[in-house]
This record gives sequence, C-alpha cells and structure tokens, in this order.
Amino acid sequence: MAKDYYNVLGVDKKASKDDIKKAFRKLAHKYHPDKGGTDESKFKEITEAYSVLSDDKKRREYDTYGQSFPGGGSQSGGQGFGGFDFNGFQQGFGNGGVEFDFGDIFGDIFNGGRGAQSRTPRGRDISIDLEIPFKDAVFGTTRTVLLAKVSTCTLCKGTGAKSGTELETCKTCNGSGRVHETRNSILGQFTSVRACSNCEGTGKIPKEKCTECKGHGVHRKEEEIKISIPSGIDNGEMIRLPQQGEAIKGGISGDLYVKIHVKPHTIFRRDGSNLVMNLSVKLTDSVLGTTIPIETLEGKNLEVKIPPMKRAEELLRVAEKGIPVDGGRGDLIIRLEVALPHKLSSKAKKAIEELRSEGL
Ligand SMILES: [Zn+2]
Ligand SMILES: [Zn+2]
Repeated sequence: MAKDYYNVLGVDKKASKDDIKKAFRKLAHKYHPDKGGTDESKFKEITEAYSVLSDDKKRREYDTYGQSFPGGGSQSGGQGFGGFDFNGFQQGFGNGGVEFDFGDIFGDIFNGGRGAQSRTPRGRDISIDLEIPFKDAVFGTTRTVLLAKVSTCTLCKGTGAKSGTELETCKTCNGSGRVHETRNSILGQFTSVRACSNCEGTGKIPKEKCTECKGHGVHRKEEEIKISIPSGIDNGEMIRLPQQGEAIKGGISGDLYVKIHVKPHTIFRRDGSNLVMNLSVKLTDSVLGTTIPIETLEGKNLEVKIPPMKRAEELLRVAEKGIPVDGGRGDLIIRLEVALPHKLSSKAKKAIEELRSEGL
C-alpha cells in the first residue's frame, strides 16, 4: 500500500524544495481532472505526495517513518474531487492533518481560497504608546485615552439592522456567508471559495440598514478607553487589553496593546525593584555623621541617619521604600556624595590645614 512520494513526483530523495515544486507543477498540469480524459486518482496521488514533501516537517517525518506517520498523507481524504470542489478538497486534506499551501503553488489562480474557511473573523490589533510620569509607573495609575478606531455600532449592536427591523438571509450566498467562484486557468477550471461580500461573511443582511453604521455593524468612531496601569510597571513594558482593538462584523475584536514609556525622574531612578537616589552630604557631616531629611517618591518626609565616617561607596538602604512588586516592596538605596565647598573662609582653611598636619 505504501507509496513512494519521491517516485510519484519523479524526483530524487535529495531533491530541493524548488525541484519538488517544479515537478508537482508539471504533473498537476498534466493530470488535472478537468483537463479531461486523465486519471483523477493520479492527480490525487501527486497532490498528496506534494503536500508531504513540500512541508519540511512532514518530509522529515516521511523520510524517517515512511507513510504511516501520524497525520501522514495516507489518511488524506479524497473528498470533493468530482469537479474539484476546492473547499471540499481542502477539508479532505485537513482531516489528515496535512496543511497544504495552495497559494504558494498556484499563485493568484486561487486568490483568497484559503481565507474563506469558516474561521471566525478577527478585528485588527491596535498598538499605542503612552508616556507616564515616573511616580505613576511606581505606584500604578489609570489613564483614559481617546482612540479613533473601528468599533461595534452601539445603535444596532453590530447587526447592521435599523432598530425594530429584522435580518434576512443573504440571497447572494443563501446564508452560508461564502460564495463559490469558478475560474478558468491554465490548469483547468477551479472552484474557489471566498467570504460573501454582500453580507460580509455573516450570511444575513438587514432588511433595513442601520442609520448609524449604514448596515456595516461597525464604524469608525472615537472611543474613550480606560487603561489601568499596574504599580511597578517598567519602561517599555506592554499592557494588553483583550478585544479593545478594532471591531469586525460577525467576528471578535482585535486586542489593544499599550506600550508604556516612563519619563525619567529628576531624583529617583529604578534598579529592579529598588529605587536609587544620590544624596549630597557636607564634608563635615560625612565625617561626623548626621540626620538629613529627605522627601520620598510618595512625598513623605523621611529622616535619613548618616552614620559617621560613611563612605560614598557604602550604600545606605532604607527597607521597603522602593517599588511595589509582587505583593512586596523593594528598598530605597541612597548613594552618598560628599559635597566639597566652593569657597573656604580663612578660618575654615586654617582648620583644614590643622587637620592635614594631623595626617588626615
Ligand atoms: Zn448600526
Ligand atoms: Zn452573503
């Protein structure tokens, strides 16, 4: 029962993807059922061979396990070959787990054929940039932005029907939401399936169109969107708001992505979950020790005790005054800077000179 796919396509086991494609194209042209008088099963065979050998993963599996690998070509159905119904054909292969890229081989002959499957349509994702102050990034905040985007019409709730009127079955597609299109090509006659443009793939059209959205169910408008920004968010992080992107008729809305840009602070900077600041200390205070009042990021007064002889490279750490993350809070780290006076009085200079003579 096992077929040699390489034999079927008449290519070498080491054939390149390009060679395989060329061989298939040639054979598909020769054996296409609509060419008349040729063997349908032969066409099925070469298509099956191509669907496996054109896919790197499937080809590898086939080379290793032969035709019996799970989801392999042997399970591929032969449905829909009468008249070559494109949709049925795809489903037949779908059952066997073979993803088959017609667009790749037939180019625009099938234009859009794959996209017409019954997948729920999804609106476009939107991404926006949002700049927030450093303090808001640390403690969290909410922002309301005004966004112009395609939204579901609130008047008809997306149905496209004028209020009080009903929807009726689309006559173009008889309610299926899909239309078949038969085209002639060098490979013969093909039937492709695409979403019905009359009902936008929903299968139903309003008897009377909604005045707001002109029957589309969606329309572009400005919408206020509240964005809640969690505490501890870092520069460059992204917030995803599911289904707050663009709406689409008969489908689900895309997502909204908000990229956060944190404005730098003049005093504080971030290091993981810690806040870091520099603190200027007078020469004498750094030697003798002192207490310096500072204002924390949340605006509270804090007395920072500077021990005597504290060296600049030894950091001061105030526990749990940093960035709130994961239910805890980082520390405030203070880096001391000894501030030298710009000018010395003759008295001060004398005192310093005395210190020097002490060997300091
Ligand atoms: Zn409407
Ligand atoms: Zn329709």
